Amino acid sequence: MNLDKKFSGYANPALHTQGLYIGGKWQAVGSIPVLDPSTGNTIAEVSDAGTSEAMRAVEAAEAAAADWRRTPARQRAEVLRRWFDLMTERAEELALLISLENGKALADARGEVAYAAEFFRWYAEEATRIPGEFRATPSGSHNILVDHEPIGISVLITPWNFPAAMATRKIAPALAAGCTVILKPASETPLTAYAMARIGEEAGVPAGVVNVLTTSKPGQITNTMLADSRVRKLSFTGSTGVGRTLLAEAAKTVVSCSMELGGNAPFIVFDDANLEAALEGAMVAKMRNAGEACTAANRFYVQSGIHDAFVAGLTERMAKLKIGAGYDPETQCGPMITPGAVEKIDRLVSEAKARGARITTGGKPVTEGGHFYPPTVLENVSHKADMCHAEIFGPVAPIIRFNHQKDVISMANDTEYGLAAYIYSEDLQRALSVGRKIETGMIGINRGLMSDPAAPFGGVKQSGLGREGGVTGILEFMEAKYFAVEF
Ligand code: NAP
Repeated sequence: MNLDKKFSGYANPALHTQGLYIGGKWQAVGSIPVLDPSTGNTIAEVSDAGTSEAMRAVEAAEAAAADWRRTPARQRAEVLRRWFDLMTERAEELALLISLENGKALADARGEVAYAAEFFRWYAEEATRIPGEFRATPSGSHNILVDHEPIGISVLITPWNFPAAMATRKIAPALAAGCTVILKPASETPLTAYAMARIGEEAGVPAGVVNVLTTSKPGQITNTMLADSRVRKLSFTGSTGVGRTLLAEAAKTVVSCSMELGGNAPFIVFDDANLEAALEGAMVAKMRNAGEACTAANRFYVQSGIHDAFVAGLTERMAKLKIGAGYDPETQCGPMITPGAVEKIDRLVSEAKARGARITTGGKPVTEGGHFYPPTVLENVSHKADMCHAEIFGPVAPIIRFNHQKDVISMANDTEYGLAAYIYSEDLQRALSVGRKIETGMIGINRGLMSDPAAPFGGVKQSGLGREGGVTGILEFMEAKYFAVEF
C-alpha cells in the first residue's frame, strides 16, 4: 500500500504538527511522538505544552470571550453549520487520519466522522433555541424571569478512543452556548484535534474561541488552569479514575464539572429474543472500535433457552473478522491502542479461564506486528471473573448463562459503573420493565448502537455526571440566572 499517497490533504499527519493552537496562532514547543498502533512506528511529533502555554491559552480564551458571547446566536450557529459542512466535505481524509493514529477500522472511522460532524449541525440548530422562563410566583408576590448565560471559559479533556466525536460533543454545545474553550486531546490521538481546529478556523471560528493544547503533563497543566478563577467549566471524557482525580481538583475552586466516564455495559438476551437481531446487535455493541468504546457490551447474559444458539452464532461471526491496520480497507478489527491494552486483555482472559471459562474463538494475543488481540468469545464465564467488573476495552465477549429475570437484573447492576445496557426481547413490555430496573443512563432495546447527537448521552453511578448531546447538552455550558421582577 502506498501510504504517502493515501495520507494526503487533511489525512497527512505533517499538516497537523505546526504546534499548539492558541489565540488563532500555531506555536511549536517541545515534542510528543504520535504512533501508528498497527505498526508501533512514529508517524508525527506534536507540541508539548507546559504551564506557561496553558496560561496563554486561558488568556486567549479570555480575550475572545466577551465578543463571542455577544455574537448573536444566529451568527454563532452559522459558524457551527459551516464547520459541519467542511468536516463532511473532508470526511474521507479525516477518517483516514483517525484510522492512522487510533487504529480503528476505516468503516468505524467513517462512522465516527459522520457522528462527530453531526454535533456541529445539531448545536447550530440548538444555538438559536436556548430556553428561558417567565412566570408569576405562586404567591403572586413578584415575577420570575430565568435567563441562561454562557458559563465561561471551558476546559475540555478528551480520550483517544473517539478523537473527533468526543471533541465535537463538547466544542459544539460550548460554542453554541457562547463559551470559549481550551481543548486538551489525548496524547495518543492529537492529530485529529488539530485537524479539526484547522477546519474550524476555515469555518470562521474567531481567534481564541477554540484553543488546542497537547501535553505530556496533563495533570500539571489542567490543575494550573483549574486554579485560575477565569476558568468556570471542566468537561471531561475518560476513565473513572482520572475523573475522580479531576473532580477533587475542581472542588478547590468550585469549578462546574461534566464527567463522561467508564462503562461496563451488560448485554442481556432473553429466550424470546429474535436470535439474528440479537447477534447482529451484539456484533455492533461489542465490535464497534474493536471493543474500545465506553458503551461497548462488556458482558453478555444469555437465557438458557437461547444460550447455545447465541454462543454458536457469535463465535461464527467473531471468527470471521479480519484483523489488520485500520486504514487497510479490508480490516474489520484494528489494533489495540497500546501494548499495555493487549496485556490487560490477556490478563483478564487468563483469569476468566482459570475460573472455568471456555474459549470458543480467539483467546491469544497476536504476536507479530502491532498491538493486536483477536476477536474472542468465552462461554461458561463466572460472574465473579475480573472481566465482568473491569472495562475490557477490547474485542472479547464473555458469555454468562442465566435462568431467571431477577438474577440477571441483579448481576447487571453489580458494578460501580452505570453508563449503558442492552436488552433483547420481543416482548417490549418486559424489555421496558427490566430497563427501568437497570441502573444505567442509557438502554438499547433490540438495538446495539445508541449514540446520537440528538439524544442525552451519559451515565449514572461512577460513569459520570451530566449529559452530552440532545436538547439539554447546551445547558452544561450555561448558568441559569434568576431575576426577581416587580411590576
Ligand atoms: P484517561 O486515561 O482517563 O484519559 C482521558 C484524558 O484525560 C486524556 O486526554 C488524558 O491525557 C487526560 N488525563 C489523564 N490524566 C490526567 C490528569 N491527571 N489531569 C488531566 N487530564 C488527564 O482515559 P483514556 O484511556 O484516554 O480513555 C478511555 C476511558 O474513557 C475509558 O474508561 C472509557 O470508558 C472512557 N470513555 C468514556 C466515554 C463516555 O462518554 N462516558 C466516552 C469515551 C471514553 P493523556 O492522553 O495525555 O494521558
